[in-house]
Amino acid sequence: MPRVSYTAPATVDEAVKALAGAAGLAKVLSGGTDLLVQLKSGRLAPELIVDMKRIPEMIGIREEGEFFVIGAATPGVMLSAHERLEHAFPGIVEGVDLIGSTQIQGRASIAGNLCNASPAADSVPPVIAARATAVIAGPNGRREVAVEAIVIGPGRTSLAKGEFVVEFKVPKPKPRQCDAYLRFIPRTEMDIAVVGCAVNVTLDAGGTCIDARVVLGAVAPTQLIVDEAAQALIGHKLDADTLAKLDLAAQRACKPITDKRGTIEYRIKIAGVLARRAAAIAFERAAARA
Ligand SMILES: Cc1cc2nc3c(=O)[nH]c(=O)nc-3n(C[C@H](O)[C@H](O)[C@H](O)COP(=O)(O)OP(=O)(O)OC[C@H]3O[C@@H](n4cnc5c(N)ncnc54)[C@H](O)[C@@H]3O)c2cc1C
Repeated sequence: MPRVSYTAPATVDEAVKALAGAAGLAKVLSGGTDLLVQLKSGRLAPELIVDMKRIPEMIGIREEGEFFVIGAATPGVMLSAHERLEHAFPGIVEGVDLIGSTQIQGRASIAGNLCNASPAADSVPPVIAARATAVIAGPNGRREVAVEAIVIGPGRTSLAKGEFVVEFKVPKPKPRQCDAYLRFIPRTEMDIAVVGCAVNVTLDAGGTCIDARVVLGAVAPTQLIVDEAAQALIGHKLDADTLAKLDLAAQRACKPITDKRGTIEYRIKIAGVLARRAAAIAFERAAARA
């Protein structure tokens, strides 16, 4: 492996300076569970690695008014252990809990899961379904964007040179709002999603859906927000007709590939099934908050 410089700044400003000062490829490291694999395999040969785990602002979960603010380098285990976040967004925690193993979750972050830009990333669909935003720091200061604006293709993000995610802002759920995330893998553990589906719904007091987001993973080059699937839910209770329309809308949105984990046809079928099942769980959870 060629020589790589390593730095672990203590502040966001120092990290911005380190990244801006690199002449060649500089990579941000949060948990390293994707990055180290890519370095060892020779797929990446950066000149500099900037480790974010020593920046206090980037680790931890806090509540600020109507938002949960999650530091970009916060490991998955801290999200799973955060009772208020878990209660508010069981679907986000479901996505995080599916990443690798206990050891992986001790390091892996949502920012790394997002910025690795795999279509199959498990925490990304529920975070997008929650309408979360990402605060990005870079040479031109800070900006805030919707999480879905970051991944633009497999392995590609919209982040400019020297930019990185500092934190995520997740709007707290409204009354009778809840989410769910399900994925399908060919075996029971440690595999990559054939399809992932997050559903986030808000119900009125009578159980009718008044707002929804349905997000699919692993069925297109980026995560898909399926508006037609949300429209199938909004204005309806979860009856057989609604579920059938949701299933069809989810299937229609898919643009998957065939690979060793599943064919195009298989992925499309599974997307409909997971959308039904995730919606049923999200509705049940939301109704229980009445
Ligand atoms: C054994 C194993 C099993 C796995 N299983 C799963 C699984 O089931 N589901 C799944 O989704 N993933 C899985 N992964 C992949 C990986 O663990 C996740 O994608 C993880 O969330 C990556 O987070 P990280 O903090 O370790 O990222 P890192 O490896 O630190 O970074 C990943 C990428 O994101 C960039 N990056 C990191 N932080 C930032 C930031 N703050 N701003 C901008 N860019 C940043 C890095 O430069 C790099 O390009 C698995 C990995 C392993 C090794």
